[in-house]
Amino acid sequence: MSFQVFGIAVSRGVAIGRAVLVASSRVDVAHYFVSPDEIQSEIARLLRARDAVVHELATLKDELPGDAPHELAALLDVHLMLLHDEALTGSASQWIVDRHYNAEWALSAQLEVLARQFDEMEDDYLRERKADLEQVVERVLGALAQEAGKAPPPVRPRDFGGEDPLLLVAADIAPADMIQFKRSVFRGFITDIGGKTSHTAIVARSMDIPAVVGTREASRLIMQDDWVIIDGDAGTVIVNPSPIVLEEYRFRQRQSELERARLARLRHTPAVTLDGVQVDLHANIEMPVDAESAVAAGATGVGLFRSEFLFMNRDGELPSEEEQFIAYKAAVESMKGMPVTIRTVDVGADKPLDRLTVNELRHEHVLNPAMGLRAIRWSLAEPSMFRQQLRAIYRASAYGKVRLLIPMVAHLSEVRQILETIRKVQQQLTDAGHAFTRVELGVMIEIPAAAVMLPLLLRHVDFVSIGTNDLIQYTLAIDRADEAVAHLYDPWHPAVLQLISQSIAQANAAGKGVSVCGEMAGDPDFTELLLAMGLRSFSMHPSQIPAVKQRVLRADAQRLASALPRLLESEDPRATAEKELSAARSGAAIVH
Ligand code: PEP
Ligand code: MG
Repeated sequence: MSFQVFGIAVSRGVAIGRAVLVASSRVDVAHYFVSPDEIQSEIARLLRARDAVVHELATLKDELPGDAPHELAALLDVHLMLLHDEALTGSASQWIVDRHYNAEWALSAQLEVLARQFDEMEDDYLRERKADLEQVVERVLGALAQEAGKAPPPVRPRDFGGEDPLLLVAADIAPADMIQFKRSVFRGFITDIGGKTSHTAIVARSMDIPAVVGTREASRLIMQDDWVIIDGDAGTVIVNPSPIVLEEYRFRQRQSELERARLARLRHTPAVTLDGVQVDLHANIEMPVDAESAVAAGATGVGLFRSEFLFMNRDGELPSEEEQFIAYKAAVESMKGMPVTIRTVDVGADKPLDRLTVNELRHEHVLNPAMGLRAIRWSLAEPSMFRQQLRAIYRASAYGKVRLLIPMVAHLSEVRQILETIRKVQQQLTDAGHAFTRVELGVMIEIPAAAVMLPLLLRHVDFVSIGTNDLIQYTLAIDRADEAVAHLYDPWHPAVLQLISQSIAQANAAGKGVSVCGEMAGDPDFTELLLAMGLRSFSMHPSQIPAVKQRVLRADAQRLASALPRLLESEDPRATAEKELSAARSGAAIVH
């Protein structure tokens, strides 16, 4: 039966493929394809892991003390029975044969299928056996991991699997797990949770693959292996589409691929408006390797390196100064003399240091994590970690143009502490004989307080970068990751526009650099608005650069600026912008 699921469009384009359901807690299980001649050995690996767990449980049962409650032995029997059930390992082996999934993936896929069957059981006792099944699978996954050693799982592109693209469906995916998917086999994402600027959505966008989040129920309604269309522009998911609908979407998919190829030709065209205003289009990156896609997309610098992603997937263990230095240096060298803006760690809220904490935050309702010990607050609370990161950043400055960016600043006292720490770090580096050059200091404008007191902040820094994702969140008191209030998360809100416009004007008047690095910068719907406000530096995911560049090339900056006052006075800025700003746009097609 065909049906639709509605969510929030977060990453454009159309993806068509088969659903792969993954439980949130198991998203980090390795997902790769085995080659046809590895199928038998992969099945053998799965069965070996199963047998190891059988042996472990059987021994446990044999060694139960005489006075152990008899429920314990009964429970072990249930687990042993599940392990021997063909529906688990037999069917999981079938996933390996049919789809060439690796053992861990095959087992989790089969768990999803069985878990649903348990959910639908009438009998309470049987329904509750789902938890036993999950425990058993956890144990087998543990045995597989042990066999594979501690080495990171191989991430293999789609060399061997069937022809069908695969789309990931999960209740939620933590940003840390999304990072592991960067080179993964999935061609689209659907999640139950999340908003347009939740970090999961941001990473999906950086991968340039269609995604719909905040669907609330997709992971319950969609079945393993269902055919699914993700319409990343409309925010809809069509499950088991009819042949006519499928054909229509295949057509749209081809059209958007053609459009991308057309825009890619703008890569080497300088971003200059019709009236000759030069605009910097920089890239947002999460890992040093992303710098390569930044260069390939025609970015003229990195406007935001979200360094916190270096701190994730490490079981809470922080990267050393040396490790960070190597990562920053790699990004700086890839950019070949173009500026690289490294933001100090922004952990906290929906980007905790390890996955366990994500689950705790989500499920135990820690009070207001977005307003808690996040970003610079966390860095200042961990001074030795902060100094370590600053040393690594400064050392990288010997290899190219590095700029330092501090997230979530709201107090002048924070800026003073940062400046004091920088002085200490410079002294330490000099004493240790490390080379470094001048590093410009910038703060992010993400908290309304910072925007309101910008003239005071500007006295102490070289540049500012407006983080519209958080600025909107804190101005409107809307949790950016909460789909329940996503409809109120409004970049067109007059208060938001006032804050952004004032900040750009004040920084320009003070002769200090100003850029926008939130998601608004990469959305072509806002390019003219930001140009009208006087913005000349945008930072976005590399994949968004061509579309924004096309808007810049068609814009007349002076005419846009003259329309701004009417827009800021309007009670409906979006409608006014549509009317006023489009009048200042050249209708001429720039690329053919
Ligand atoms: C922002 O808040 O706009 C921003 C760029 O930072 P992040 O999305 O990483 O919080
Ligand atoms: Mg932010």
